[in-house]
Parts: sequence; C-alpha cells; structure tokens
Amino acid sequence: MEIIKLDHITKQYDDGFVALKDINLELESGKFYSLLGPSGSGKTTILRIIAGFTEASAGRVYFDGQDITNLDASKRHINTVFQNYALFPHLNVYENVAFALKLRRRPENEIRAKVREALHTVRLDGYANREISELSGGQQQRVAIARAIINEPKVLLLDECLSALDKRLRKEMQFELRAIQKKLGITFIFVTHDQEEALAMSDEIFVLNDGEIQQSGSPVDIYDEPVNDFVARFIGDSNILPGRMIRDFAVEFAGKKFECADAGITSGEKVEVVLRPEDLDITEPAAGKLLVTVQSQLFLGDHFEIKAVGQDGFEWLIHSTNGVQIGQEVGIFFDPEDIHVMRLGETEEEF
Ligand code: ATP
Repeated sequence: MEIIKLDHITKQYDDGFVALKDINLELESGKFYSLLGPSGSGKTTILRIIAGFTEASAGRVYFDGQDITNLDASKRHINTVFQNYALFPHLNVYENVAFALKLRRRPENEIRAKVREALHTVRLDGYANREISELSGGQQQRVAIARAIINEPKVLLLDECLSALDKRLRKEMQFELRAIQKKLGITFIFVTHDQEEALAMSDEIFVLNDGEIQQSGSPVDIYDEPVNDFVARFIGDSNILPGRMIRDFAVEFAGKKFECADAGITSGEKVEVVLRPEDLDITEPAAGKLLVTVQSQLFLGDHFEIKAVGQDGFEWLIHSTNGVQIGQEVGIFFDPEDIHVMRLGETEEEF
C-alpha cells in the first residue's frame, strides 16, 4: 500500500534557486527507503517537504491517499530524527523520550509503559535515568530514535542521522536501524550521501543529483544496472569507457569486440560501457586479450586494488584476490553479463 506520494514537486527558494525539479515518488508502507545523493542534491529539501517544515513551490504531497500539502507538520503522522539528534541536554533519557506524550498530556501510566517499550526497541533497557551527557554517541542516537517512535508514526524520516558516529558504530547502527524498522513495520526514509550505507540498508534507493531523481530501484538494480554516467560514478567504483554497439549482442570498446547482454540499443550507436572493478579478473597476457600494464597496487585486506593502463591510455581499476607486479603486463578478463552498456545521451552533461 502506498503511504507517501510526491506528485510533481518543485521547490524554488526565495533567492530563486531551484532545489527540486519535478520530483515524483511513490513509497509503500513498511519499507526502508533511502534518498541518496551528493551534498546539495536536494535530499533534505524532500524530507522537509514530506515532514511539512518546508512548503513546495508546486506539486502535491499525499499521505495514505489524503492530500496533506497544506497540513501543518504537527498534524502529520510523520516524525523526524535529525542529524544532531536534537536531544534536550538538561532532561534525562526518560524525560527526553516521554516529551511528546507529556506535551499531549497523556496519563502518567501510559507514558511510563510507552517509554519502557520504546527504550526496549532501541535496546536501551535500564537507561531511563541516565543523563544525556553520560551517553555515548551511539546511545544518544538510540534515544533520538526512541523519542521519534514513541508517537507511533507511520513514517519516520532520518536525516543523515548516522554521520556523527565513527565507522564501526555506524555499521552497528545500520544493522540496528534496519532491525528496528522491521520490528516496527513502518516506513523509514533515510537520507544519506554514503552509497555503501544506502546499499546496505534499503529496500529501495532514490539517487538524486541537482534536484532530480536519476534512478530508483533496489540496491542490486542500482549497483548492477546504473542508467547513466552519474549513477555509475556515484555508486561504487567503475571503469567507464567509450564504445559502440556493433550488433544486438555485441559491443566494441578498448579497440576490441565483446559479446554482451542485449542493451536494446541500435547497432552503430555510440555508447558508454561500465565495468565494475570487482567483475574484472587478471589473466596471463595473451594475443587477443585486453592487455594492460600495472601501475600501482594496494592491499585492502580482502582484495588488491590495482590500477593499470591500457594500450589506448585508459586507466583501469581492478579488484583482484591475487597480487601482481608493478610494471607487469597482464590480461583483463570479464564475463559478458558484467558488461553494462549505457546510451551516450544518458550522460551527466545532459542533466
Ligand atoms: P546536504 O547533504 O549537504 O545536506 P542535500 O542534498 O540535503 O545536501 P538540500 O539541503 O536539500 O541538499 O539543499 C539543496 C539545495 O538547495 C542546495 O544547493 C542548498 O544550498 C539549497 N538550499 C537549501 N535551503 C535553502 C534556502 N533556505 N534558501 C536557498 N537555497 C537553499
């Protein structure tokens, strides 16, 4: 069931800057969504329009089938977890989490039961009487989530809320957030500029750039089948080469012809070919192979990151489980299904 719909949303700020251009989104109930894009792409603006903190210049916002475009933020069944948590430092954990219910003058026993339940959900049982200053970053993050879920919102908005945590804690909270979302069964909309984070957590990702949605889909779709140059470069590392379709299942690039999956592109058309570094293998150099010369190599624990230059001067990035020698000539091998072909018209310059 669709819980949030943005219908042709545009946002022009007072200074004339257009932050969102005709955004259309349909979000289902009970799923984990990410808005992913570089700084300034419009992620927070979308979140604020859904929350009701910012007014759209054009377009409508729907919640559960109702038009809420002009509904006050406080009347929406939507809560937000902010980047800086926005906890009250002078109140303890219990008082922070209970705040919204106290404001609504709910009976004390109901508040107590709900705070206990919310703290249990975020695995902070026993922390009710702690001061905020006595908590670690990860624990403060959980208090912020407990405070946001106590009202039982149908949608929870999370704005870069893991960015203040160190890498290890961040990973831990990614699992936790996903588990909390599953347990509550509500819709999460998570804003991030970190592609790994979005890939790890989401049911569906919306990739944004310059106020426009570039691609939406499951993490696997977005990673494996980027629709344009921007997405291919932004999500993971890529080798992007100029090429040309020579027939339905064959493409030419780096001076050679390769079988590939059907890209639905006419023969003769110029294309860009995306090859992910982890889809490439190093082989013995042999006639007919794509030959490169190794320039540098980094050992990253579970693989080597190898940079190598082709005979045409193209710089390749290869992730290999085997190490090589700097200056060594090697062959590159890949499966036909790992060749992703994109139309040239779908490049960044045209956005
Ligand atoms: P970040 O990751 O840096 O938070 P973002 O993708 O969330 O970026 P937004 O905060 O939505 O981006 O901003 C989108 C664009 O709109 C930016 O270029 C920003 O400078 C601009 N913008 C945001 N708020 C205003 C405002 N009140 N007036 C004018 N321009 C604004």
